[in-house]
Amino acid sequence: MTRKRSPRLLIKQPGRLIVQYVSFVLLFYPAAYQPGEACAAAAEEGGTSAATLILCRACGHELAHGTDIHFVPSRLALSSRNDTLGEGRRVTIQLFENPHGHQFEVITFRKADVTQHWPADKHFSWFPGFSWTVATCPRCKTHLGWAFQPSDWPDTITKTSFDESEHTFLALITYRLLREDFASSLLMTPKSFMS
Ligand SMILES: [Zn+2]
Repeated sequence: MTRKRSPRLLIKQPGRLIVQYVSFVLLFYPAAYQPGEACAAAAEEGGTSAATLILCRACGHELAHGTDIHFVPSRLALSSRNDTLGEGRRVTIQLFENPHGHQFEVITFRKADVTQHWPADKHFSWFPGFSWTVATCPRCKTHLGWAFQPSDWPDTITKTSFDESEHTFLALITYRLLREDFASSLLMTPKSFMS
């Protein structure tokens, strides 16, 4: 189901702080976010609001927008399933297993505010043709997932070249993430209001 809604209508329990917060998001993020064509189309179809934020579950750090989610299929996934990310937006979650037998469900993002740990490793990549680095939360250092860059790139690159490329993406572990509108419904104070 795809429905278009005004961002303000996405808030189920409008409170003064939440309305202010949405205003803050609308003020700042449209200018900062410049989606690629495919991503813009996906956002259009999904009716996703820029107000949907993805947070670090451990500390609440703002990692990405819902519109940063970008499905990158892998033939090495053990399985995949669809889930909803609030207000009917569908996201595809893939299940992978590492060489130690640990399984992780991940959502892929075009970009996210994480700390990457170069040099990238070409071995045991879940996405053939891409090397990976560990991605951690810039605030609490929790391991959030992995960042992927083309294998023929240098093992160590700058964050700017990673962020600006159309050929890079991240796979973040679903249970290490939290949706901001869900956090608001729990009456948590968004990070923006903490001094
Ligand atoms: Zn964190």
